[in-house]
Amino acid sequence: MCSLPVPREPLRRVAVTGGTHGNEMSGIYLARHWLQAPAELQRPSFSAVPVLANPAATAGCRRYVDHDLNRTFTSSFLNSRPTPDDPYEVTRARELNQLLGPKASGRAFDFVLDLHNTTANVGTCLIAKSSHEVFAMHLCRHLQLQYPELSCQVFLYQRSGEESYNLDSVAKNGLGLELGPQPQGVLRADIFSRMRTLVATVLDFIELFNQGTAFPAFEMEAYRPVGVVDFPRTEAGNLAGTVHPQLQDRDFQPLQPGAPIFQMFGGEDLLYEGESTVYPMFINEAAYYEKGVAFVQTEKFTFTVPAMPALTPDPSPAS
Ligand SMILES: [Zn+2]
Repeated sequence: MCSLPVPREPLRRVAVTGGTHGNEMSGIYLARHWLQAPAELQRPSFSAVPVLANPAATAGCRRYVDHDLNRTFTSSFLNSRPTPDDPYEVTRARELNQLLGPKASGRAFDFVLDLHNTTANVGTCLIAKSSHEVFAMHLCRHLQLQYPELSCQVFLYQRSGEESYNLDSVAKNGLGLELGPQPQGVLRADIFSRMRTLVATVLDFIELFNQGTAFPAFEMEAYRPVGVVDFPRTEAGNLAGTVHPQLQDRDFQPLQPGAPIFQMFGGEDLLYEGESTVYPMFINEAAYYEKGVAFVQTEKFTFTVPAMPALTPDPSPAS
């Protein structure tokens, strides 16, 4: 098991980013609020910095202007020579990499919390890179224990050998909050206040760690991607059917072979023809129509997260 090293110093450089996607309104309005009134992001050992990640897309209430910002934090985008023709989000990713990174450097922020909404019924979904991120896994566990009624699901997005590409990957530690369902461009009070509460609890957890709290080992259950399924389409690329009513809104519920997944406009059902049970998520996410994704197939797995020892106080200087 190749766990990443846990932090051995307090996490003092912390950012909360909203509007990485410019039509996901909870994080946008929280970031705008905190830019005016940052006291809510202060804790005794650190002050988190609010960041509106994609201002141009947010101004236009669009997911992105030229390129999905949350797929742009790879070395090929970040390290290529800037040109006047670069897509807006490539330029913006480099700016954010300077502000919060540089990625994979000792100067990078200690923690970035990135705020998202989805039109899919994922409830409260916590998105991290992999099970090896021990600090993020303890944070997820803390949120699950604090809010059992939310049944927070943990999605670990990174496929083996794949470079991380999302905003919080520029920091030493990170987590994405994905709350839904909320339509694009719409702010719902229930989801807005749930996100605000979760952000406060994330900051409280960092404070607990900074103050010298130890966290024991535990077993965690999470989901990881195994594939994507596109809509049935016509030769022209238009939809030939919809997500089946028996699949709609059932994110993270088991999908058995033979169950209906699409309802064709001709009336017949298309069935899931896989050989094993999968757990669909991002079912009918509006932003994924253009990506050719009607839902993401995941598998559920469990693993042991090692204990996270308490920080030891700095030795007092010799007299
Ligand atoms: Zn998003």
